[in-house]
Amino acid sequence: MKVFSYMLALGGLFFISGCQLAPANEVHPESTNERVVIEEVPVAEPEIPLQEIGESFDLPIFAYHHIGSPPDNASESTKTWYVSLEDFEADMRYLKDNGYVPLFSVELIEYLGQEKLPQKAVMVTFDDGAIDFYENAWPILKKYEVKSIMHLQSHVHSKNWLSDDQIQELDQTDMVEFGSHTKYHAYLTRISAQEAEKEINESKERIENVLEKEIHTIAYPFGLYNEDVIELAKKAGYDMAFTIESGIGQQKNELYKLKRIIITGSKRVEDVLGK
Ligand SMILES: [Zn+2]
Repeated sequence: MKVFSYMLALGGLFFISGCQLAPANEVHPESTNERVVIEEVPVAEPEIPLQEIGESFDLPIFAYHHIGSPPDNASESTKTWYVSLEDFEADMRYLKDNGYVPLFSVELIEYLGQEKLPQKAVMVTFDDGAIDFYENAWPILKKYEVKSIMHLQSHVHSKNWLSDDQIQELDQTDMVEFGSHTKYHAYLTRISAQEAEKEINESKERIENVLEKEIHTIAYPFGLYNEDVIELAKKAGYDMAFTIESGIGQQKNELYKLKRIIITGSKRVEDVLGK
């Protein structure tokens, strides 16, 4: 960082952008009697303040479902799963303006391995794979540079849900991670162990085939899980799982019981973070 500031202080002798290396031993043509020699220095990304964490740590994980207006015929209970465009934009703007750091699952694992987390780490998750994610949420996520994780019902296909093409397109942006929400939004604790295993394993396989890469997370449909379900998720190779138990206090040894805050039409992320 210091070197970078120093180079800027040289009066814009060097054009630097992104992560490029500064040109070595290069002198501005108009700089006649001054010779500045600078070694190649990677330009530092803005530093993310980290904090040490123990077995327990705070990590707000938000869970969204639909972004936009509910259909006219939606029931009152369905309507609560919809967050308006304005409210969603307010949430994402709040995260961006206040320096929050949305994490992907692999980043979380990496930070936990170092027993550190960004001071303002959050996760932004979506469940179900609704088409309004592509149409409404994504443009706003992109605008505010918020990374998110979408959990798909991998075997449910209709015009209301993300298509494989859209999933691939979003994946290419490196701004959206995909995880599983089982094949058909299963009641994992109420079906047989064999059925649960199929829901957990085959959804992972299908999404990985579409993306041609590994996925790491599962969100339990209806938030239903028990120790058997956790074992199946571990065996299938998921690294973590999301519940809908409410809270921001997480445990390092309970990554298959991550708590989340469900964001509805009447709850803003500022209500949770702005305390
Ligand atoms: Zn769901």
